Amino acid sequence: MKRLIEGFSHFHHHVFPSQRELFKKLAAGQSPSTMFITCADSRVMPEMMFNTQPGELFVYRNIGNIVPPYAQHVSGVVAAIEYAVRVLKVKHIVICGHSDCGAMKALQKPELVKEMPSVSAWMKHGDVAKYVVAQNNQGLSEHETLACLTRENVVGQLEHLRTLPVVAAGMARGDLSIHGWVYDIEHAEIEAFDAERGCFVKLDPNASKVPDATPHMRFAATAAA
Ligand SMILES: [Zn+2]
Repeated sequence: MKRLIEGFSHFHHHVFPSQRELFKKLAAGQSPSTMFITCADSRVMPEMMFNTQPGELFVYRNIGNIVPPYAQHVSGVVAAIEYAVRVLKVKHIVICGHSDCGAMKALQKPELVKEMPSVSAWMKHGDVAKYVVAQNNQGLSEHETLACLTRENVVGQLEHLRTLPVVAAGMARGDLSIHGWVYDIEHAEIEAFDAERGCFVKLDPNASKVPDATPHMRFAATAAA
């Protein structure tokens, strides 16, 4: 705890003074353009990874970057998504998994969490990835299977995300897009799910188009009024 208190003292005395105007503005409200859903893992720090300022990212974290399907499970993440889309009017939702994820290891070896009934129950939402990998990727090493599970979990949670009415409506209008990423901790790289190509590709800052997982819009944005 001492580490946190000293850290806050450093922030208060050395970081805050140079950004007083930003914090004064933020004291009156937020308008982030992106909701970022990622794992609770302490090694994943979105604000550091994307060099963002306070107010830029609406971050939600849970074990395994999971979004339960609509109507199956009322959860904090689903409530946060509704709020982000309806009130904050975010334009993008990113679901980001990561390398060496303990939750994905639990999907791979459920016995690791058998003494944790809540974690076991929560990880049921990752079954979609477990089955996709088990039935389509035989013969992979343990390490390769973990990487495959991590990607497929992101794809599966994107599908769950689309079951939320508020998300489906925003995507149909074309004013909300969703993205599935995997962050590699050791190499500081991100790969993104490209729905058109059906695969993950390295995130390239020089690419003309950011890969996204959003089907084409079906209604003009103006129809939303
Ligand atoms: Zn994780």
